[in-house]
Amino acid sequence: MKSFEAILKECEGLAFDLNFARAKKWKAEDKKRILVGYLPIYVPREIIHAANGLPVGIMGAGDRKQIIKGDAYYQSYICHLPRGIIEMALDKNLDDFDGFMFPAICDCVRNLSGMFKLSKKGKFQRYFDYPQNFDVLIGGTFYIQEMEKILEDMQAVNGVKVTPEAINKAIKLYNTNRRLIEEIYNIRQQYPWRLSAVETYHILRAGITIPVEEHNEMLEQVVEHIQRERGEPMDNIRVVVTGSFCEQPPIGLIKSIEMAGCYIVEDDFMLGSRQIQGDINDNSKNPLEALADAYIHQSTFTSCFYDVENPRGKRLVKLAKERNADGIIFSAASFCDPALLDRPQMQQECDAAGIPHINFQYHENTGQFKVIKEQAGTFSDSIKLWA
Ligand code: SF4
Repeated sequence: MKSFEAILKECEGLAFDLNFARAKKWKAEDKKRILVGYLPIYVPREIIHAANGLPVGIMGAGDRKQIIKGDAYYQSYICHLPRGIIEMALDKNLDDFDGFMFPAICDCVRNLSGMFKLSKKGKFQRYFDYPQNFDVLIGGTFYIQEMEKILEDMQAVNGVKVTPEAINKAIKLYNTNRRLIEEIYNIRQQYPWRLSAVETYHILRAGITIPVEEHNEMLEQVVEHIQRERGEPMDNIRVVVTGSFCEQPPIGLIKSIEMAGCYIVEDDFMLGSRQIQGDINDNSKNPLEALADAYIHQSTFTSCFYDVENPRGKRLVKLAKERNADGIIFSAASFCDPALLDRPQMQQECDAAGIPHINFQYHENTGQFKVIKEQAGTFSDSIKLWA
């Protein structure tokens, strides 16, 4: 077993390798292998795995790349993520990728899919839509057809005809992955000092750049390590951070919240890896149906998921209570319409439930955290003193 420090270091390196060297090395080992890049938040990675592919999450350039060309592709009043990603594509960071999936989350990502198409990046560029009708016979059928299009795209690249057995095998692996991640969150809920939010973030983000089999091994070791005591408990408050599901906050921001006296016991930073709650049926004769069913019935709440009969604000309050959180931090990317439009309604629910909250906005390349640290520190002190 690797030392914990070695695992954490490896994860940090993988999480922020904008050249995806490990994924490209994996592909180079077999000519039938393909790399499929996907943007936040969620795609059914199981079907890519079943097609002999590696799904690779592209979470943006963060604060690790200067954006020059990307700014010319977008107006100034949108979030930062798409301009960072187009910059990566133009700089050839994504050159070995065979195809790209753009989950339907907002117009910025829709436009980015068009830019990839026009710039001929990858052999396919698929804008991937999700059901808005949650009747499995309607929305489920639609979603299955969307997945079939991706399967055709991939087959056209490597000739691999996907079997139900291969998808079931992939579902099983991703079930394990989701279970281990939740186990880490559950241990952190009780002992948040054993693994910081920054370390957790690195571990999860590393996982979307390597084969799921390898990530599962890594997660098993992490679970083993944090079952033992590590670090010192502090007099911190416990918070849920929400709204950061797409453009990722800079590491400095997560660190600032922690240093301001907050244990982040729940977050939506890497939501794609956690969107489906619980196991998906891995023994179905029609596994696409099982994936569609899981999307419709087992998705967690997020602003990009249509759930009119199950309002997000109430689900956020429920989550905060389950995690025994003292407060909620609304932290969203500047100009992120899905997150910011939902915020007032969610704040109302928090007020009604008596849960204190604060909010701020960031860019993935924000470099100044003093104000955020002061704000989070004041929030933490006020809860400790007066809540
Ligand atoms: S951060 Fe928000 S606005 Fe920007 S691409 Fe993502 S969902 Fe769209």
